[in-house]
Amino acid sequence: MRRFGHVINGATREAGNGGWREVFDPATAQAYAEVADGGAADVAAAVTAASAAFPAWSALRNSERSRWLERLADALEARLDDFAHAEARDGGKPYALARDAEIPRAVSNLRFFAHAATQFGSQSHHGEAGLNYTLRQPLGVVGTISPWNLPLYLFTWKIAPALAAGNTVVAKPSEVTPATATMLGELAAEIGVPAGVLNVVHGLGPDVGEAIVGHPDVKAVSFTGSTAVGRRIAGIAAPLLKKVSLELGGKNPTLVFADSDWQDQLDTILRSVFQNSGQICLCGSRILVERPIYAAFRDALVGHALALRVGDPMDSDARFGPLVSQAHFDKVVAAIGRARDEGGHVLCGGGALDRPGWFVAPTLIEGLGPDCASNREEIFGPVATLQPFDSDDEALSLANAGDFGLAASVWTRDLPRAHRFGAELRCGIVWINTWLMRDLRTPFGGMGQSGLGREGGDDAMRFFTEARNVCIAR
Ligand code: NAD
Repeated sequence: MRRFGHVINGATREAGNGGWREVFDPATAQAYAEVADGGAADVAAAVTAASAAFPAWSALRNSERSRWLERLADALEARLDDFAHAEARDGGKPYALARDAEIPRAVSNLRFFAHAATQFGSQSHHGEAGLNYTLRQPLGVVGTISPWNLPLYLFTWKIAPALAAGNTVVAKPSEVTPATATMLGELAAEIGVPAGVLNVVHGLGPDVGEAIVGHPDVKAVSFTGSTAVGRRIAGIAAPLLKKVSLELGGKNPTLVFADSDWQDQLDTILRSVFQNSGQICLCGSRILVERPIYAAFRDALVGHALALRVGDPMDSDARFGPLVSQAHFDKVVAAIGRARDEGGHVLCGGGALDRPGWFVAPTLIEGLGPDCASNREEIFGPVATLQPFDSDDEALSLANAGDFGLAASVWTRDLPRAHRFGAELRCGIVWINTWLMRDLRTPFGGMGQSGLGREGGDDAMRFFTEARNVCIAR
């Protein structure tokens, strides 16, 4: 059975306690690999390695760090197919999605921040009495903790700016999907990235994640995952006055107006709800539809959902795979049951597929109001509700209901309305007539229970650096 060890100080290692955990293939529900079951001692070893590597890494010219990131991107691109297979096996996502979108995006993350390493600027202020300029210096050793839904995409989204800014990294991927982070750590060692610069430590959140957050030599932690764990991390970091970035859950509205080209966009709208089986923090899970088109839109969307090709992730035609784990499958199936109990009418799907593995059918539900749990709590699966609205004000109020504030997509041809919703939706990302169109220079993150801080572009480089003002008298 394949084993995914830690990558610490440039070498693959087993956990200090010798423990391993099973890793499952979601398409079969069978264990196919093992991952090191690390703990605080492994984190301590990784922090020691990262601390030793920091002086030389941070002293490199920006252009040299940039070249390392480019080399890593080249090496990843050369093995794109291996990584796409590993990601599909590990997390159950369609191989085609991993090959065409997610691993290429991991390559782009590395390349984007390779450029940022040489182009990130800082401010200067020329006053009457003196000149002030801002130095942006790396923090030291930083921690990154990432989830299972976009394993390499989000892993690289964090390590790339951290490394570009001159930090060394202790990175914890999800214990559910350890494959590609391990492979990238090993690839970095293989191409000669200095030992200790990028360390990958595996294990459970309470064991390894909390040890990273609580370690006195880890200067900042960038976390993506659930709101509950984000809150826990904030609680550990606060008394240590440690910098944290928290990218958390969502319950995103999709607003469809009668004047939109919804018939032509149905495929994109469907994708925005069900891509990666709805296991993307940006997926729409509350579809709000202007009443005059409600019935026609609902019927067309249900027709498209029923036609989605569900299949083995390795089948290159499959658009829809299984959920990631038994625990997550149980949670999503229970949420569908709760929606029924709340009075929801299931239009399509409604439960598990009759086949091995953790497959849940694409599920659309109507008849639920904004206050029920199904419209307030994150399900993070192939489940969305439909609600009609009668006016722009009502659409805004429905969209802004609840505690989350990550993303929204608005489908309309009315430009003043688009601007109004762009300004008044309470969330960090608003897409108008599109979904998941990302420019890596833009700020990324949520409001309220969806998080704290922004990633992407300059925001990421600022997070991973300390600003120091230098004032020189004239
Ligand atoms: P999770 O919070 O359970 O786990 C995320 C990571 O945190 C994993 O590596 C896990 O091992 C670790 N962890 C768990 N407990 C921990 C603890 N006590 N201390 C430190 N680390 C701990 O989330 P998940 O189930 O892996 O991912 C799904 C969640 O992630 C969803 O809520 C989704 O919305 C969110 N998400 C958010 C974004 C975003 O950008 N806002 C992107 C992707 C996923």
